[in-house]
Amino acid sequence: MNTPALDDRDGVIWYDGRFVPWRDARLHVLSHGLHYGGGVFEGERVYEGQIFKLTEHTERLHASARELGFEIPYSVDELDRATRELVDRQKVRDGYVRPVAWRGSEQISVAGTLASVHVAIATWEWPHVFSADAASRGIRLGTSRWRRPAPDTAPVRAKAASLYNICTLARDEADRHGYDDALLLDYRGYVAEATGANLFLVSEGTLHTPTPDCFLSGITRRTVLDLAGDLGIKVVERHIRPEELGTFDECFLTGTAYEVQPVRSIDAHEYRIGTTVRSLSEAYTRLVHAGGASG
Ligand code: PMP
Repeated sequence: MNTPALDDRDGVIWYDGRFVPWRDARLHVLSHGLHYGGGVFEGERVYEGQIFKLTEHTERLHASARELGFEIPYSVDELDRATRELVDRQKVRDGYVRPVAWRGSEQISVAGTLASVHVAIATWEWPHVFSADAASRGIRLGTSRWRRPAPDTAPVRAKAASLYNICTLARDEADRHGYDDALLLDYRGYVAEATGANLFLVSEGTLHTPTPDCFLSGITRRTVLDLAGDLGIKVVERHIRPEELGTFDECFLTGTAYEVQPVRSIDAHEYRIGTTVRSLSEAYTRLVHAGGASG
């Protein structure tokens, strides 16, 4: 089956302050963002027409750009208003929002300071990442040979397009080996995260999650930590070694697109979908549908 190209749709995209026809939202081939990875982005979810934690995402977009040494020329408030208007105009009810900011085409040089900064926001209906079947049975992860880099090697606190090379390599490798997603270790060999989501493991009812010192501490991760607090579930944030993976009972991923996604196995280690992952998944679903959404 051919997937319809994302550039060939009706509707509008917000582009540098204007709503432009979807097919006209283009950029020049000599853009710094394309050649040198001068770009940052966000991924947001729309539930019943409301954007979950919008302002947190927009603030992260600004912070990511600063990590890469550029300023986004629209305030958080302006981008929030543009996003809400776009979701209304596109009539998206259960979908995804993709804001992106990149360095433009004034200078074809590693140096980035002369390049202008551009911003676009697109939204479309996109209810789930995994099929309902895979989601409910739990997904299978394979440990990747690719690793999350050290904080003095890459801008690890930014949601930077350039960092996703590693995720794409790991994800394509996982697909080739028949897994649903990859688990990446970090530069020290500790368990880090999946290609677009954070990782949680459960042992005797206690949550264990890697310390996010060289990868994103996702907005969903932080939401789930709050929900765990509300539900009286104990949480331990620590460095986790891959040799420990066989000692846990349950495992799940968290991310804006993944939501709370049970994991059935990592390599040969199997996990059950037990009460901890079920109760957090239900609590998350209740929250995002309860107008906890507006941000
Ligand atoms: N790690 C990576 C590499 C991601 O791409 C994402 C998705 N943004 C996450 C973690 C989870 O972040 P969030 O919960 O903010 O979506």
